Amino acid sequence: MLMRDLHTGVACLDSLRRPLRDLRISVTDRCNLRCTYCMPGEVFGRDFVFLRHADLLSFEEIVRVARQCIALGVRKIRLSGGEPLLRHGIERLVEMLARLCDNDGKPIELAMTSNGTLLAKKARALKDAGLMRLNISLDALDEDIFRRITGNRVSPEAVLEGIAAAEAVGLTPVKVNAVIKRGVNESEILPLVRRFRHSGVIMRFIEYMDVGNTNGWRLDDVVSAGEILALIEREYPLVPIASLTEGEGVAERWALQDGSGEIGVITSVTQAFCHTCSRLRLSTDGKLYTCLFATDGIDLRTLIRAQPGDEVALRQHITAVWRSRADRYSQLRHEMTEALSGRIEMSYIGG
Ligand code: SAM
Ligand code: SF4
Ligand code: SF4
Repeated sequence: MLMRDLHTGVACLDSLRRPLRDLRISVTDRCNLRCTYCMPGEVFGRDFVFLRHADLLSFEEIVRVARQCIALGVRKIRLSGGEPLLRHGIERLVEMLARLCDNDGKPIELAMTSNGTLLAKKARALKDAGLMRLNISLDALDEDIFRRITGNRVSPEAVLEGIAAAEAVGLTPVKVNAVIKRGVNESEILPLVRRFRHSGVIMRFIEYMDVGNTNGWRLDDVVSAGEILALIEREYPLVPIASLTEGEGVAERWALQDGSGEIGVITSVTQAFCHTCSRLRLSTDGKLYTCLFATDGIDLRTLIRAQPGDEVALRQHITAVWRSRADRYSQLRHEMTEALSGRIEMSYIGG
């Protein structure tokens, strides 16, 4: 079904006829971890200059953008970062967004991706505010491997406590996401599967992507979804469940044949589905990005602040951005070996 602009009745399609359905909002560029593939400590150190508070979109400004995106077809909003739980008062933003409805009066799906370390304190408030779904990132159970990946700031126990807290308040089913990088944490694939069997948690493995400039990505570092599945199958035979296109790839779903759980693999690199990609990203400082691999964002904050009450202008601007969208980076990835510099970081626009 095509989503239609409320005023014009014209479907908001991009130049490749993809509808706008999915909005990812980065609420902070800061994080309490320093994952080597995302915000490596050498780059995001003491001297790194993060955005000033005045540069951040306020909650009211975020809601204004979200409302117009919903009018244009968005049905799912995901809060991300940086670490979204570091944004002061995040539960208030969740509450404001949870009140928004689509053109038929139905609530939109409201989700968050978090590293989980602060969830033990925040899960109840997020649930009460109206958060519906939660993805929690956990790349390793082994203490040393986890600390090596995340910059040696917390123990994986903190994330496990966060997962338990999310389950306790009913933010279920929790999805746990692990990015797998060759030579770093493929040894953690089976332990993660074992750990979450019989728990209701859906364990998903993500192919390592070439986002940003700071992670020194090489194709050799990618452990493909095929390899991940083959490894799991050696111990746990798998039965396919319907796949979903999600984010930058396909989320293939598999049931463990013995009935003990579900796992997933996200084929961001080996099977990116640009032709169905319906995601718009809003950065912490109010820029729109029409692709995870975009080099430039389109400033919305100036317009928002210059015309505080002009919702029509805001919607027209977002419409124009979406209509001119032609991104299909992943499909072109193999042809694009140059021009990789200047890409933005995932922690800035939200993974
Ligand atoms: N801090 C939160 C977290 O870690 O869940 C939210 C932001 S983080 C940028 C969102 C997701 O992007 C995480 O699951 C992270 O593992 C993933 N991510 C970051 N860099 C990535 C990369 N180069 N390839 C694949 N996934 C990546
Ligand atoms: Fe922080 Fe998430 Fe990036 Fe790790 S992946 S550094 S937790 S934003
Ligand atoms: Fe969407 Fe860009 Fe990823 Fe293609 S490369 S799936 S257009 S975000």
